[in-house]
Amino acid sequence: MTGSNGGDLAIGSGPKPRRRDFVRLFGRLAAVALGLAAFVVISALVGNSFGVGLNRALVSLAVLLGPPLALALLRWGRRQGFLLWPWAFLYHALLIAVLGVGFADVTGRALRRRGDWFFAGGSGLVAHSYRLGLARVALYLERFERRAKRELPPTLQPLLPTHPADRQIASDWSHPFTRRTLPPHEGCRFGAHRPGRRPAECEAGHCGIDLPALIGTPVHAVADGVVLRVERDEKRGGRAGRYVKLGHQQDLVRTRYVHLDRIAEGLSVGAPVRRGQLLGTVGLTGVARSAPHLHFSLSVKRRSRHLYIDPEPLMLFWPTARPVGVLPTRVARRE
Ligand SMILES: [Zn+2]
Repeated sequence: MTGSNGGDLAIGSGPKPRRRDFVRLFGRLAAVALGLAAFVVISALVGNSFGVGLNRALVSLAVLLGPPLALALLRWGRRQGFLLWPWAFLYHALLIAVLGVGFADVTGRALRRRGDWFFAGGSGLVAHSYRLGLARVALYLERFERRAKRELPPTLQPLLPTHPADRQIASDWSHPFTRRTLPPHEGCRFGAHRPGRRPAECEAGHCGIDLPALIGTPVHAVADGVVLRVERDEKRGGRAGRYVKLGHQQDLVRTRYVHLDRIAEGLSVGAPVRRGQLLGTVGLTGVARSAPHLHFSLSVKRRSRHLYIDPEPLMLFWPTARPVGVLPTRVARRE
């Protein structure tokens, strides 16, 4: 009876294949999602060595699809069914587990700095929501590098986001702007690609971070210190244009405020500077092709040399600037 009636057969055994189809579809979707996550992690990790986006994508795809493809082909030799996704699923799950658990800080740092490379400078809703989610994952994984912790002077160490309670002690340092601004995309972050020879600790070249702002935005000292250098001549400043360099804590830490438009009057080498004091305004000096921004860098003395470190993880916990001293109207282009 059942064998001769196709309609009965379809109704009688309908739910089972449908459930199986659903499980298969769900499995494939999960495999695709996991594959995309693994692609983001791998491409962020290889970002140091491959500046061009296409190269990065190709290397990442080779790492992601090579082994599961090989396994699936081996299996195909025995049986004729070519099923890539179960192998890919297993491989990508293992890859993410090994990187996320075994190399948490490196993976987190790579994700924070380079996990959004395929959006380039884009800032649409998708890019924005993606970056917000990525920042949370990265911050959780990162817990800041242990190596950097040793390089930092004691007064900066409590600012590292290791323990939530430590963030309360962030009283000696503040953001250079009165509005919290952070590097908006990969090209603005520490270690991003820049041409020419640069110090080794700057990874692919960028020794600081770029904070976009309108020309004329006031720039404030991030901590008490002493003026080490003031360059008011745009030409002599070269790639940096007009800039100010400060020393803090007996020159243990140095900060630089680069590409300024105007520099505050009376700022001269050796003069003491208070946290929040106006140094100048955001400009475009020394910039070849870019929108106006403040290039901010922070270096820490280790033995006899100053080493650049990524200021972004610290800056996440610095309060915004509370201006002291001179007002923006009193800054001058030249003296
Ligand atoms: Zn820069």
